[in-house]
Amino acid sequence: MLLVTRDRGLYLKISKSRKDGLLLPDDDEVKNLVLILERCNIKHINPVPNVNTRCTICNGTLKKLDKTMTSYPIPEKVYESISTIYKCSKCSKVYWEGIHVENINKFIDKINKLLMQ
Ligand SMILES: [Zn+2]
Repeated sequence: MLLVTRDRGLYLKISKSRKDGLLLPDDDEVKNLVLILERCNIKHINPVPNVNTRCTICNGTLKKLDKTMTSYPIPEKVYESISTIYKCSKCSKVYWEGIHVENINKFIDKINKLLMQ
């Protein structure tokens, strides 16, 4: 088990007890994530398939619905361009295909490039 912290005092306690610790030196979340992945010997993250299966908030399963089946306030331009929505079975959050998967994959690309350096 690896204890990841930004707390220097906690990190020193962990180090003295011969447990595995990682002190994150930076406020930059991307740099910190890269440090954690490198420490765990993870050299690549696979992109997210463009299939909505799990809620990013609660990990509940997503149910595919016609866009007319929700009262969720979808922006008008988005509503016009989609036919399907995905609704979380646990927390009822509504998703549609497009930007969020694209943004996650852009973030993963950024991380993978940093991991290759
Ligand atoms: Zn959910």
